[in-house]
Amino acid sequence: MAKRLRGYVHSMTSHRRKQASGEGPAFEIDVLRDIPSITRLLNTEQARVIVAIYGREEVVAALRAEVEQIRNRILAAVPIEPSRYSPAELVDAAVRRLARSSRLSLRRVINAAGIVIHTNLGRAPLPAEAAQAAYDAASHYSSLELDLETGRRGARNSAIQDHLRALTGADAALVVNNNAAAVLLAIATLASDGEVIVSRGELVEIGGAFRIPDVVGQSGARLVEVGATNKTRLADYALACGPETRLLLKVHASNFRIVGFTADVPIGDLVRLGRANGLPALYDLGSGALLDFTRMGLPAEPSVPDAVAAGADVATFSGDKLLGGPQCGVIVGKADLVARMGRHPLYRAVRVDKMTLAALEATLRIYRNPARAAEAIPVLRMLATPIGALIERAERLAAALSAIDGVCCRTAEGSSFAGGGSMPENPLPTRLVRASVRGFSATALAGALRQQDLPVIGIIDHDSFVLDVRTIVDDEIPEIAAAFYTASRRA
Ligand SMILES: *Cc1c(COP(=O)(O)O)cnc(C)c1O
Repeated sequence: MAKRLRGYVHSMTSHRRKQASGEGPAFEIDVLRDIPSITRLLNTEQARVIVAIYGREEVVAALRAEVEQIRNRILAAVPIEPSRYSPAELVDAAVRRLARSSRLSLRRVINAAGIVIHTNLGRAPLPAEAAQAAYDAASHYSSLELDLETGRRGARNSAIQDHLRALTGADAALVVNNNAAAVLLAIATLASDGEVIVSRGELVEIGGAFRIPDVVGQSGARLVEVGATNKTRLADYALACGPETRLLLKVHASNFRIVGFTADVPIGDLVRLGRANGLPALYDLGSGALLDFTRMGLPAEPSVPDAVAAGADVATFSGDKLLGGPQCGVIVGKADLVARMGRHPLYRAVRVDKMTLAALEATLRIYRNPARAAEAIPVLRMLATPIGALIERAERLAAALSAIDGVCCRTAEGSSFAGGGSMPENPLPTRLVRASVRGFSATALAGALRQQDLPVIGIIDHDSFVLDVRTIVDDEIPEIAAAFYTASRRA
């Protein structure tokens, strides 16, 4: 066969030469005739199976593409084994092609990057029962706006409102698409015809497109900056209060820290100043911790119950940061203010869908038993995993990877981060697995692992590929090993 190919390549070359010199038609190329026809391929047993899955049109297109590829190779005189264009092999290749193109572009990945609330990887993974609740709400009819007791029209928010009242101590709550929408709706409702006072130390940008000055601008309100970047005192706010003032705004700095000679005004003091001037105080908390994080051995974060207890008239926070639920923005606060926000036309544009509501309700229900929350809510569980458990998991992962031919690894100390703008200056001690695969640079390995059916996302650190075990679960160890195995075969 090799001989026939060489002869073929030779005759092809002379064929081209003849064509180029205008010497006339091609002579017979017997190899092209050996490629099976689409009809013949469609009649194979395997093709019938895939036609049932993908439909005839898709299968024909995939088979054509495979046949075309073989033809082009032959015409380009690239040596090719005839077994590559046997009917079985062509249909197999078409199956692989169809599987690749039907893979969703938004799909599950394994987060081995050690950032718990990883924005690029979808922030908080849901608790199992919240995912189930979202699935049920999505796949069936639901009691979204039906009061099952009375049979009358119900409010889509009521169960969630009850949970949030109990968990935060606030009078009322409203849920919107994300915290950016919550802040926008709150300011638009409370201050669109006047001024909002904010400290210069809190004019933050979060995730590129969310900047406090821009959000205030979009709401129609005017921003009044007070204090200096590092220090703002209560007197600065007091001096800025005037007849046009509608709102005092405090923003949790989230993703950065000002260190050194600093001062900011606690929300309680802002609330007192507001009361004296008949102004509400709004606290944008960002991360939305519902529990005292220090009890879990974690760095302190301003919590929603503390903000409410300090008198904040309104507090806003994300559902998918430290709360660990679905993407949404939660507004809690005084009943009359929250009711006004619910009546604002903007609310209709930023309210959440039934899947989000179902997932949020299920997440909040877990918090009603705080002892369970630390285990059942993935974000909290990952943040609070003891170092001993991380060391064991790293050993198990290293052992599973080392068993693969060509893979070399060792465990090392390192740091994980909460991410999502939470606890920015607080690295959490963790265990890493540094892995190398024969024939791969660290970047090539990272790329190959990203392109697996179940992509594995790690970190490149000092030219080596690193996996942080804090953000994986034990069941993912064999899946990571499978990804390394397949990736390493393609060296
Ligand atoms: C994250 C954050 C936001 C934006 O919240 P999204 O849910 O991403 O819209 C706003 N303010 C603060 C303080 C934040 O930390």
